[in-house]
Amino acid sequence: MYKLNRIEDFVYVTFPIFDEYHDLLHCFTTRKGGVSKGPYESLNIGFGTGDDEENIRRNNLIVFDKLGISIEDVVETDQTHTNNIKYVDETYKGRAMKDPKYTDIDGIYTDKKNVALMSFHADCNAVFFYDPVKKLIGLSHAGWRGTMTDIAGKMVRALTEMGSNPSHLKAAISPSLCQDCFEVDKDVADMFIATDIRYKDFMVTRGNKYHFDLWEINKYNMTKAGMDENNIELAGLCTKCRNDLFFSHRGQKGIRGLMAGIIMMK
Ligand SMILES: [Zn+2]
Repeated sequence: MYKLNRIEDFVYVTFPIFDEYHDLLHCFTTRKGGVSKGPYESLNIGFGTGDDEENIRRNNLIVFDKLGISIEDVVETDQTHTNNIKYVDETYKGRAMKDPKYTDIDGIYTDKKNVALMSFHADCNAVFFYDPVKKLIGLSHAGWRGTMTDIAGKMVRALTEMGSNPSHLKAAISPSLCQDCFEVDKDVADMFIATDIRYKDFMVTRGNKYHFDLWEINKYNMTKAGMDENNIELAGLCTKCRNDLFFSHRGQKGIRGLMAGIIMMK
């Protein structure tokens, strides 16, 4: 499930599973509400996409402004399709739209209020985590590599080490490629199955192509790490099927903007 929200022309996704927590701010942006043009139209959040940098900067500021987040509070991932995750606190703040203090970090988590975790997506999953009891949040970028190598389960285990009871954790999986649209060849399919034979349960074949359900694989990994499946919400919305609303790496043949995942405890 998901909810589409609108502030003037800024459109963003939230997840009903987090609705009851008024101390929690979260958002998955769409492509609506920014100033970029062409394949980046209009709310491209990501540097390094080929878009005009001044427009990207303005788009970031639009998101922070609409959500009421101070740019000084933002802590961003440094995504390179790893399954590396890192604890962050106030000392990592103040570097939005700059290089963070680390490299190759696809997931970040914190127990601090007013630390706005931020990640970047165009077909890849953002996985949002919240522990309403221990007051912890996490955010993972899980493309197919991160999904396969269990970045989501790794986050559950990291939060557990911070004191969470995994059955208390709530999570949401953002819009990203649906099983129909995530098509790979045998070499990638073999990598999945070599990683975990049970990934086969989430695979269908069509001719000589293979399709994995990345939403369900993340959910499987998170329940394997101790989460209750009823506490994991799938947006169930595909970025390629809904290229009108989202940027899609596959749908736009690599020329595309990026959406952002954001989560913060107030
Ligand atoms: Zn699709």
